Amino acid sequence: MYDFNNIYQPKTVKEALEMKKAHPDALLLAGGSDILIQCREGRLAGRDVISIYTLDELRGICMEDDGTILIRPLTSFSHITNNPIIKKYIPTLGDAVDQIGGPQIRNIGTIGGNICNGVTSADSATTLKTYDAILEIASVDGIRILPYADFSKGPGRVDLREGEMLTGIRIKKDSYENTFGKYIKYSMRRAMDIATLGCSVNVRLTEDKKKVDRVRIAFGVAGPVPLRALSAEESLKGQLISEELLEAASQAVMADVNPRNSWRASKDFRIQLIKELTRRALRSSIEQAGGEF
Ligand SMILES: Cc1cc2nc3c(=O)[nH]c(=O)nc-3n(C[C@H](O)[C@H](O)[C@H](O)COP(=O)(O)OP(=O)(O)OC[C@H]3O[C@@H](n4cnc5c(N)ncnc54)[C@H](O)[C@@H]3O)c2cc1C
Repeated sequence: MYDFNNIYQPKTVKEALEMKKAHPDALLLAGGSDILIQCREGRLAGRDVISIYTLDELRGICMEDDGTILIRPLTSFSHITNNPIIKKYIPTLGDAVDQIGGPQIRNIGTIGGNICNGVTSADSATTLKTYDAILEIASVDGIRILPYADFSKGPGRVDLREGEMLTGIRIKKDSYENTFGKYIKYSMRRAMDIATLGCSVNVRLTEDKKKVDRVRIAFGVAGPVPLRALSAEESLKGQLISEELLEAASQAVMADVNPRNSWRASKDFRIQLIKELTRRALRSSIEQAGGEF
């Protein structure tokens, strides 16, 4: 059914990294919901595969001593959504990955696979961007730390070098503390469909809840890779909460995006979605934070 050459099954991360060094062209297989499909279609025919799916040391979520949340890459979407740490501190991420595919995909698909395949529609990507996720990337030579912001290299391409594997995703306390967020996915169907456009927002309000202290906005499918609306974020800092703020945000994000025509949607429709989803996600985030319009 699957036209693999060799399948290697390491028992530890160390062994997996040694195998990756010995077979640099071998594909890492996590949940397989992306690459098994490509294998079956013949696009990856004849490749060697290193299956990391059984490496439990790469699975799970914990909080480190300084309040950093560590998500191991093999954690499935359903585990993320149901994890108490995620529910308490970054529920937006749990909601975002709960909109992926259908129940079977959410049980088998992993967050590591979602960001390592490098597609702009990846539903976890935008929220990880808004929370300034930091990646731990390992090889036999040691560990490299890379901001997720620098990981995308183009459509379907990420900064994973020869012999490397993603081993951790971290979100620092300062990135999530006192924030409230919302991810909105627009797709043609309510399940089993990738995003026509995805928008993730989170805000931290000033103590009196009258102004935006900090806002983070990111989009999927608004450019070749998931992207942050950095100039819009800067322009909204310190602004009073009002209907005008939502309008200003929806205009400001246009400077940061670069949507295109595709068979799923026209560029014009995506522009409309970018503006509308920004308004809605920002309104929801502000209201959750206790702000009033
Ligand atoms: C029917 C269907 C519906 C889907 N719907 C959605 C959707 O709505 N939204 C969405 O975002 N995605 C969707 N997907 C895509 C897919 O489920 C996700 O991208 C999933 O997260 C991939 O994870 P995986 O563990 O299955 O990855 P795999 O297929 O095992 O791997 C994907 C890629 O990541 C690499 N990789 C995996 N883990 C690591 C690691 N630790 N280090 C380095 N490289 C690694 C692999 O080598 C491969 O290149 C859908 C897929 C299907 C089949």
